[in-house]
Amino acid sequence: MRVLVVEDDADLNRQISTALTDAGYVVDKALDGEEGHYLGESSPYDAVILDLGLPVLDGVSVLEKWRRAGRKMPVLILTARDRWSDKVAGFDAGADDYVTKPFHMEEILARVRALVRRSAGQASSELTCGPVTLDTKGAKVMVNGMGVKLTSLEYRLLEYLMMHMGKVVSRTELVEHLYDQDFDRDSNTVEVFVGRLRKKLGVDVLHTIRGMGYCVQPPGNAD
Ligand code: CA
Repeated sequence: MRVLVVEDDADLNRQISTALTDAGYVVDKALDGEEGHYLGESSPYDAVILDLGLPVLDGVSVLEKWRRAGRKMPVLILTARDRWSDKVAGFDAGADDYVTKPFHMEEILARVRALVRRSAGQASSELTCGPVTLDTKGAKVMVNGMGVKLTSLEYRLLEYLMMHMGKVVSRTELVEHLYDQDFDRDSNTVEVFVGRLRKKLGVDVLHTIRGMGYCVQPPGNAD
């Protein structure tokens, strides 16, 4: 899952980005509204954390521009304490949720998890596909009740596919959601990771749809 953090307080931006990275997200950062707007318009994000008080272009304007351009990613706004009118303006501009500063990082993480899950149409934080269970809260994967050790990239790959269970996800879409903007993107490496992941899971849930991409489905549901 790929998340954008738009926050002009460099320390706070770093703290949020580090917490998200530690939780297994791929994170891009912007320190002003213009840069944030550009990234949000040019890259696909699974969620955005957007401060409202930003230099160059304020957060509400950034959000309005995204929504007007048809960008639908879930957006969590950061507002100052006691500024109820900011929350109203944020929601009217298209925000999905808000957190008031100062906040606990755990709250940000929990809200981002909920936003990503809801926008993918998943109600529970635990995703199940036949014998495979993925706990998005603890970032743990079990197969037939036994824990499976995955690298962070393998986990991200499986999480993305399980969030979109039953749908065919193209290689390009995977690359866009699994790597940050600075990563050297070679979509052939996805094939390698899929192969390794399939081997580690040891069950038939991760299908290659030739010429189209990949799809996670319970065993026996393929084709
Ligand atoms: Ca600010």
